Amino acid sequence: MNEITCKLLVIGAGPGGYTCAIRAGQLGIDTVIVEAEKAGGTCLNVGCIPSKALIHAATEYETVAHAADGKNALGISATKPSLDFVKTVTWKDNIVRRLNGGVAGLLKRAGVRLVRGYARFRDGKTVVVEEPSGPQVIHAETVVIATGSEPVALPALPFGGRVISSTGALALTEVPKRLVVVGGGYIGLELGTAFAKMGATVTVVEATSRILPQYDGELTGPVARHLSALGVTVLTGAKAKSLVAGGTALAIETADGEQILEADKFLVTVGRRPATDGFGLETLDLDMDGPFIRIDDRCRTSMRGISAIGDVTGEPMLAHRAMAQGEMVAEIVAGHRRAWDRVSIPAICFTDPEIVSVGLSPGEADRTGLDIKTDLFPFKANGRALTLNREDGFIRTVARADNHLLLGIQGVGAGIAELSAAFSLALEMSARLEDIAATIHAHPTQSEGFHEAALKSLGHAIHI
Ligand code: FAD
Ligand code: NAD
Repeated sequence: MNEITCKLLVIGAGPGGYTCAIRAGQLGIDTVIVEAEKAGGTCLNVGCIPSKALIHAATEYETVAHAADGKNALGISATKPSLDFVKTVTWKDNIVRRLNGGVAGLLKRAGVRLVRGYARFRDGKTVVVEEPSGPQVIHAETVVIATGSEPVALPALPFGGRVISSTGALALTEVPKRLVVVGGGYIGLELGTAFAKMGATVTVVEATSRILPQYDGELTGPVARHLSALGVTVLTGAKAKSLVAGGTALAIETADGEQILEADKFLVTVGRRPATDGFGLETLDLDMDGPFIRIDDRCRTSMRGISAIGDVTGEPMLAHRAMAQGEMVAEIVAGHRRAWDRVSIPAICFTDPEIVSVGLSPGEADRTGLDIKTDLFPFKANGRALTLNREDGFIRTVARADNHLLLGIQGVGAGIAELSAAFSLALEMSARLEDIAATIHAHPTQSEGFHEAALKSLGHAIHI
């Protein structure tokens, strides 16, 4: 039996785990990381990266397809394009492969030992990894659980056959002719939009009264309108019941009664659940927070010497939250004084148009009891948006009425994901409306919408 003793053991090499291990290595901490599948976790292998690659490819294809249909207002015409989806998938897989190698290389450069295999707790300081050469026992002073999350299955619609999860959707080798998406949240709408652009007939079945219920209706409106323009059918207040017709159709319950939807694939994206089963977690005495591992503001669990980060610790289940937690925990292990002090965690939905949100929405700010000012600047009054031929959407600011401190910034617009950094920085630096107004925003850019929303809130917008 092989035995290793180290100062820090990280279980799971997703964005949370690998960031924690790399930072720990940089700080000279003797670190081991165990990964059951591939370095990079959900995000790099079957999540953020491959999905964004497909979304980009789909948008490129749609642009040419529109030109071929005579729908291009810019005077560009094209002959009807074809999509070699196998080539698209190979391109996407190569990006994933490059980044996989990159993460493994970064771990090595930081002096971190990567053990491949599934880790199981023997006790709070020891895990066992079954390797082909026999069991590998790892003893550590501190253990970080970074095991991430996995797709939720519906009992009436288990994965298999035509029923696929996001992982299955990202592994398809052809574009399904008819795709039913169950769950109109992040994944369902990002991937549903991509497949619609690539030619699939897409129907979204969403249980609540509107798509993306985690965002307010003002933000989701432009996305709903664009889905409709793309020909995507969105059925809200609709719940999947069961497969019928030998698994080729789905029975759904709507306010108007039962409907049957035939499809080649049924993509179930009704949320993700923390990965807490199968590795002996139940043998430890950890406090839980619903299905998640309970942590404090230093990512410490209820057991001394065990921390947890990333999706396994709760919402929002986002890669950049996991990474920020991982970095913090490594620094704490190195003896730095750190605690979770971030003002906000940006959220972006890579739909078309994209939604960006940092801090509080107007509704959330209202519920704090503070007097607030909220204003929005529409992209139809923004020169850059017009030159991009995309005037749908807006940027909105939410600020305290008394001292103008920004509490939240949201936007919806084509390609505005990159503005999230400016929004986050403003909140982290405790910017007031006047700070945004006093900052020169380059012309012509969509970021001028942020400037103008702040000016509007101060009563002197220029371009509206
Ligand atoms: P994970 O990335 O899930 O990694 C956990 C790792 O632990 C896995 O590699 C797993 O194999 C390993 N593991 C688990 N148990 C064990 C064990 N016992 N022993 C050894 N290894 C183990 N987030 C964003 O911020 N932006 C996006 O655009 C985005 N897009 C997404 C698109 C899709 C389709 C999906 C599914 C998710 C997306 N997410 C996105 C969410 C993001 O992927 C997660 O928030 C992020 O991966 C969480 O990181 P993590 O380190 O907590 O866990
Ligand atoms: P989600 O929570 O975003 O959406 C799930 C949707 O399914 C909800 O709208 C919910 O009302 C609906 N639903 C639930 N049960 C249903 C049922 N029986 N029938 C019909 N609809 C039902 O979950 P997701 O899309 O699976 O994504 C999981 C998580 O992954 C997200 O919460 C997010 O944290 C992360 N993610 C982030 C990004 C990003 O940052 N761009 C992208 C993809 C995923």
